[in-house]
Amino acid sequence: MVGIGEETGQLLDALGVDRVLWTDGPMLALSPLTGEQIAKVRVAALVDIDAAFDAATRAFAAWRHVPAPRRGELVRLFGEELRAAKDDLARLVTIEAGKIPSEAAGEVQEMIDICDFAVGLSRQLYGLTIATERPEHRMMEVWHPLGVVGVISAFNFPVAVWAWNAALALVCGNSVVWKPSEKTPLTALATQAIFERAVARFGDAPEGLSQLLIGGREAGEALVDDARVALVSATGSTRMGRAVAPRLAARFARAILELGGNNGVIVAPSADQDLALRGVAFGAMGTAGQRCTTTRRLFVHDSIYDGFVARLKAAYASVAVGNPLERDVLVGPLIDRAAYDAMQAALSAARDAGGSVHGGERMGEGDAYYVRPALVEMPGQIGPVFEETFAPILYVMRYDDLDAALIQHNAVAPGLSSAIFTTDMREAERFLAASDCGIANVNLGTSGAEIGGAFGGEKETGGGRESGSDSWRQYMRRATNTVNYSDTLPLAQGVSFEI
Ligand code: NAD
Repeated sequence: MVGIGEETGQLLDALGVDRVLWTDGPMLALSPLTGEQIAKVRVAALVDIDAAFDAATRAFAAWRHVPAPRRGELVRLFGEELRAAKDDLARLVTIEAGKIPSEAAGEVQEMIDICDFAVGLSRQLYGLTIATERPEHRMMEVWHPLGVVGVISAFNFPVAVWAWNAALALVCGNSVVWKPSEKTPLTALATQAIFERAVARFGDAPEGLSQLLIGGREAGEALVDDARVALVSATGSTRMGRAVAPRLAARFARAILELGGNNGVIVAPSADQDLALRGVAFGAMGTAGQRCTTTRRLFVHDSIYDGFVARLKAAYASVAVGNPLERDVLVGPLIDRAAYDAMQAALSAARDAGGSVHGGERMGEGDAYYVRPALVEMPGQIGPVFEETFAPILYVMRYDDLDAALIQHNAVAPGLSSAIFTTDMREAERFLAASDCGIANVNLGTSGAEIGGAFGGEKETGGGRESGSDSWRQYMRRATNTVNYSDTLPLAQGVSFEI
């Protein structure tokens, strides 16, 4: 059998990643599946970072003049290359980020989907024509390319987050500089290699349209602070957003912040409980609780609590946890030891606060961190329930009054995703009106958004929106143009200024 390190090398070769980039660098790439080292990755030095910003600036100056539908053609080719590389890239996502194969394939599919979306968009970057108050004038808004777009991404969506940003940024006429998570450099190198194949097929794209900066926080900070970068789309913890937001504001740069979540689900008395069970199980245990949209808080109505929670506990006790390369596993590893320690600290705080913990124990030993997902019955929304612990912990609470539950639901700092399971139309609508999150669902879980909608959240989630709907506008600048085709000069608001 081929070892995981050897398989990683084969995948990187098959995906066309230059060996120089991953065989002899100072950054150790580890696989959470076993904890072993799988590559030694080259890191961008400060001078490389500076050169990347220059190259991206030059690329933007040329790319902005390429007609948008032609820019769409590059993204279409990228989508084709992704289709061809889907299995290998997904396998690498499993090895490097620990996702089960179907979720890893889903992540690559999301990249393909956003490419399709962006290709269509490349012919629809519409502005408005606006009625003017002055005779023989025309007023319109026109959308122009913005500049160099910086992308900072988190480990748990190592490739899709970049694609959400890059596909839109590119059709909008921008160049892109990407600082991926230091925990997932290999999938980033592979994505860049796939993109470069599309560029080669396209033929006349300016050099340096997409730049990759492998590095840690310092590389991210360079992206945040550099005046050549017009917009930074930063995905990661609220802690990261708190550091990044004021620095971007200080130089009046644009920001898209996609930060942490503490997502709640309400299961109402009329819920289809089979549906709710599956929705909560996937939302809370999927990706080993390491999604920004992971269900972390569950409010179950008193009248159904005992039966529903008993079934949920049984699902928690029986779900297959283990190496995702093995068949039928649904919950893979935590990303690293720090994630395991944070999970144990949260469980201990929950016990101290009167919670009753089911699961959460480590499975196996060595350098990989597998845990049984934890379901914690809490006496109320207290202590660690207010924190996003990036691990599979579901805090379960009772409620008897929907209005009170809605207040509890909104009483956490982030505002990303939320859901209610109910067959009562009034309850569903009341929930949709009340939830203060960027995503609110009825009869489906908090995780697993489609690319067609705008993705993001309110409050400490950062307020950014990515992906579908009109998110593209953030990657462009809007100019309001007024044209006077009369031979007089009427001033707006009837102002008179005769000279
Ligand atoms: P993280 O905040 O540790 O790191 C994210 C990225 O930010 C990394 O590339 C890191 O190098 C960079 N970074 C960290 N500090 C920085 C700084 N001061 N300046 C510039 N760059 C900096 O997050 P993580 O552990 O990789 O990911 C988990 C977190 O990300 C969770 O909180 C999760 O909810 C969040 N997340 C949010 C979304 C979303 O769309 N809202 C999506 C995925 C993950």
